[in-house]
Amino acid sequence: MKPQGKNYYIDAAKHSAQWHAENMKRIKKQKFDTISVHGIYSMQEALDFNQGSIIEPIYMSTSQAYRDADEMEAALGYEIPTWCYSRIANPSMYYLEGVLALLEGYGSNVETSCCATASGMSAIMSAVEPFLVTDPDDPDAKLNFVATSQVYGGTFQQFAVRKDQERNIEWRKVIHSNDINEWAKLIDKNTRFIYGEMPSNPGQAFFDLDKVVELAHSHGIPVIVDATVATPALLRPLTRGADIVVQSISKTITSSGFGIGGAVIARKNLTSNVKNEAMKADFGMYIKALPNRDNGPNISPFNAVMALNDSRNLRTKVDRFSRNTLTVANYLNNHKHIEQVDYLGLEEHPLHELASKYLFLVDSEVDPLYKKKVNRYGHLMSFRVKGDGQAARDVFDGFQMIWRATDLGRIKSVATIPAISTHSQQGEEGRKLADIPPNLIRLCVGGEHPDDIIADLDRGLAVLDGKKYFISSPEYSAGGASSAKLIRN
Ligand SMILES: *Cc1c(COP(=O)(O)O)cnc(C)c1O
Repeated sequence: MKPQGKNYYIDAAKHSAQWHAENMKRIKKQKFDTISVHGIYSMQEALDFNQGSIIEPIYMSTSQAYRDADEMEAALGYEIPTWCYSRIANPSMYYLEGVLALLEGYGSNVETSCCATASGMSAIMSAVEPFLVTDPDDPDAKLNFVATSQVYGGTFQQFAVRKDQERNIEWRKVIHSNDINEWAKLIDKNTRFIYGEMPSNPGQAFFDLDKVVELAHSHGIPVIVDATVATPALLRPLTRGADIVVQSISKTITSSGFGIGGAVIARKNLTSNVKNEAMKADFGMYIKALPNRDNGPNISPFNAVMALNDSRNLRTKVDRFSRNTLTVANYLNNHKHIEQVDYLGLEEHPLHELASKYLFLVDSEVDPLYKKKVNRYGHLMSFRVKGDGQAARDVFDGFQMIWRATDLGRIKSVATIPAISTHSQQGEEGRKLADIPPNLIRLCVGGEHPDDIIADLDRGLAVLDGKKYFISSPEYSAGGASSAKLIRN
């Protein structure tokens, strides 16, 4: 083919953009389950570009080739859609980003876009960094941000060490996130964003998002919400006015545990006091095309497809996990060896009422099983064993099915003791502040039959009645061969 000039490609792109817009209109009319099953990948696209493959292919390719110099020039000038180079974009990443953007905006007409990242932590970094820039008209201002103190351990380190300590960007901590006055008092003209985790991991802290959004926007600053624990099946903060959502897709979204990943999903035309119009207009595209292009924290195509594949049944699996968790929480609540159970789904939880205002199983009203709006509270809970830290360790060591691991969001039940794992770095004082006593076990309930989860909890708790448990020897366990060697050497 003879070169036909750059406009040939630009015209073709316009044509395809039109088709894409029509297709998106069709997709947006569908229910949540349908969108999670099919995402933005259509039969038309499969036949035109992917040899009919009914599943989104994994494009394990670094880069894209162009027909001629004109096409390359148009692509690299961002004049036509392109994926160019997999540090920035890639078709497999694009399929994941497309579906996550739709799910976070579901049930509203909020326009959204998404940038998938290599981890939840890089999603948080990508979401907050563009706001932490000095104003050329006030270059000496000391910047700050207001964020809940109850956040995931990694987030705590990123905010406290990487920003506050190392760069002198002040983290103003909201201790009682349920008290809107506390948020209000911390904001001033140098506040760049407001950040909260809801529910928080592991403490299940919660705040009144509607009020926080109203407050932030009255100051012209954005609200960023980490909604990893809820997932879009239970809470879609963008549809309630938040500006940006971050997800660790390593957790419930990829419940199989097949990979680490994260996502930033933002509304178009967000609120910010930073003078950067392109950023505000389409934050998801902006970070993808510019800061993340330059810093390189985006997701790999393989992990993108792993996450995509696992998200297809998000609503039904979160429903199942949530129901299992409530069953387990109710059981433990009446157990003689348990001091306290913390789960937002229990009526006696101090934040139950507030959580019930926000956490609904999406589309339950059109689900023939329910036919009405039903609350669901996710699969993160914790319980305190009667006695000291040793009692909790003994119970923990007695589990045979529930995995002892610092993980959550899995299809398999997983437990951890935060005081000696995820929160050991914080020290005893820090743990007291966060209400993480040594006898607390965090449990993330999986998709097993609840009877079997309860049987295993019982097995652990029976240790406190003097029952023995069995610890496999590193000498004989197949997967532990390397640790057995380490011990011998
Ligand atoms: C795990 C987690 C993160 C960090 O995600 P990674 O994918 O592990 O980097 C952030 N926020 C919450 C609430 C988490 O549970």
